[in-house]
Amino acid sequence: MNANKPVEYNAGHFDVIVVGAGHAGCEAALAAARLGCHTALLTLNVGRVAAMPCNPSVGGPAKGHLVREIDALGGVMGQAADRTSLQARMLNTGKGPAVQALRVQADKAAYSREMRRLLFATPNLRLYQGMAERLLIAGGAAAGIVTRTGARFTAPNVVLTSGTYLRGRIIVGEALYAGGPDGEQTALTLADDLRAWGFKLGRFKTGTPPRLTRRSVDFTRWIPQTGDAARRAFSFLPQPSIFWGDDPRRQEMCWLGYTNERTHEIIRANLHRAPMYTGVVEGVGPRYCPSIEDKVVRFPARAAHQIFLEPEGYKSDELYAAGISTSLPEEIQVLLVRSVAGLEQAELLKPGYAIEYDYILPRQLTPAMAVKDCAGLFSAGQLNGTSGYEEAAAQGLLAGINAARRLRGTPPFIPGRADGYIGVLADDLVNKELLEPYRLLTARAEYRLLLRQDNADARLTPLGRQIGLVSEERWRVFQAKMERREAVLARWERQRFSPRDENMRAVLTAAGTALPAGGVSAAELIKRPEITAKEILALMPDLPDLPADELEEAATLIKYAGYISQQELALARAQKKERRLLPDDLNYAGITGLAHEARQRLQEVRPRNLGQAARVSGVTPADIAALLVYLERRRRQTETAKAD
Ligand SMILES: Cc1cc2nc3c(=O)[nH]c(=O)nc-3n(C[C@H](O)[C@H](O)[C@H](O)COP(=O)(O)OP(=O)(O)OC[C@H]3O[C@@H](n4cnc5c(N)ncnc54)[C@H](O)[C@@H]3O)c2cc1C
Repeated sequence: MNANKPVEYNAGHFDVIVVGAGHAGCEAALAAARLGCHTALLTLNVGRVAAMPCNPSVGGPAKGHLVREIDALGGVMGQAADRTSLQARMLNTGKGPAVQALRVQADKAAYSREMRRLLFATPNLRLYQGMAERLLIAGGAAAGIVTRTGARFTAPNVVLTSGTYLRGRIIVGEALYAGGPDGEQTALTLADDLRAWGFKLGRFKTGTPPRLTRRSVDFTRWIPQTGDAARRAFSFLPQPSIFWGDDPRRQEMCWLGYTNERTHEIIRANLHRAPMYTGVVEGVGPRYCPSIEDKVVRFPARAAHQIFLEPEGYKSDELYAAGISTSLPEEIQVLLVRSVAGLEQAELLKPGYAIEYDYILPRQLTPAMAVKDCAGLFSAGQLNGTSGYEEAAAQGLLAGINAARRLRGTPPFIPGRADGYIGVLADDLVNKELLEPYRLLTARAEYRLLLRQDNADARLTPLGRQIGLVSEERWRVFQAKMERREAVLARWERQRFSPRDENMRAVLTAAGTALPAGGVSAAELIKRPEITAKEILALMPDLPDLPADELEEAATLIKYAGYISQQELALARAQKKERRLLPDDLNYAGITGLAHEARQRLQEVRPRNLGQAARVSGVTPADIAALLVYLERRRRQTETAKAD
């Protein structure tokens, strides 16, 4: 008996095992359990589920859309964020509805507690603390995992969501050591085991800024950032914040400040000790989330970079310094922080650091988050090369749903690019070559006017209902809302104003828009940019009492009707290609007209249809044309053979 090798014991058989209780793992486990699967959720530290190792916020452009989509499908991130929100702001309100997005500052500890409460309250779901070290695969299919302490969990479905923990390496200046985020341990052996099974892994990096003590900040030098005056929530089943209830005046504050030339000098003078520039950092980091040293080098002319001080929790003494993510040596971090106005006496509670970790190359997956070459194995979250709590949660939800569907023998749920950002995310991951951690942006969605955050329920709740994740209450609330919407839209089309209508004339004049020469419908008036919710209510004071966001959403449908139908037309055209299925057994290597890179990529990705083939990175329109010619020739040959 090897003293260091634990004796394995049978720790139980399940329908689904989820490895990792981060943002992906919690959604996956809750979805699988709520869909009736006997589920085990194994994680390194049951006291830190759904931990936020980086910014204490949920949402923002594209990410906020995802959170609403997760909620609309029956996932939990939206409700957890609403309940633990410290401050809520709608971003991009000066821009069109496609890019407006909610961002919530969350109390990190409360968010984790809330998720833990949901996990423990879910029947069919068992939480375990342990480190998965080995994957069990039998006959090319997932069979379970073995932990460091010898627990052997078996199941036909295994969902891996190990985040930034695989072979984690922490970097703070010259200090390099194995570790997970925020002082947690790293998972050293699972990555090697995955490689031994033939899975391809890569190495990415991400970073985080220092944390400061609230008492050491001179806030008189910072610009307060308040939450919105209006009540904002992610969930379509909104829950009040446990910190500010329904009273936006009780929201917590954030603060805005700036670096300065002195800060930049300190950084430039120490680039020779910056791991990003000394070559110590091997992993590739996200360009859209640059470290402060990166910003100073890439934008030398910029005199100042924004810093946001964000509370890590309700009345917390710990402040997150967004905008100065760094892996510079600790002593340099102290200098650069104290060079900022109002931080001259700042105390570092935790230094910033970079973390490198292994991830699975996502082209080994299907858009259902299933590993192609191992039935019953799923992968979700940062492990797939993405970055962001929201991106992870969306993938986890997909993986959990599809593990349950596999158990039932029903086809996988694969939302399309026109169903939601969740579809854009899954499709991009399996088709694109990742050169850096993938983060969702509204610009990645070709139908973004159809994928607004305000209509996520209309797009996805019926699908969530079919899947079985949408509760009776959510379905009832959704149907009532859709009825209200239809009723108000019909009213606006039906209601007409005579040009002599005094009230209408007064409202239009006050709004600074021209008076109509003839009779006009409410819908025609609402199309005018000057007509907002305020004018609509003034024009039709007897309008049934609608929640403000529903009124705005209905008005958006009128105002953007033209653009929306253009996008729907483009979608209909593209869907022709999506319906053109590609045979599973196609040997792309043998198709002469295809360029070498396209053959390789298509052979790897094995797209399900022509539309997906066109989105595989490295595949050109000329390759698609060659593929069409080949498919046509093949069709004729088959027909001739049949005729003979
Ligand atoms: C330092 C840092 C900075 C970041 N900065 C940003 C940023 O600026 N913007 C952004 O969008 N995102 C950022 N992120 C990323 C964000 O934290 C992740 O995207 C998100 O947490 C991923 O969620 P996940 O569920 O995939 O993994 P994680 O949240 O990492 O959770 C993984 C879970 O798996 C468990 N686990 C791991 N290995 C094992 C094992 N072998 N056995 C059992 N359990 C295991 C862990 O205990 C953990 O609970 C940052 C992350 C870190 C660490």
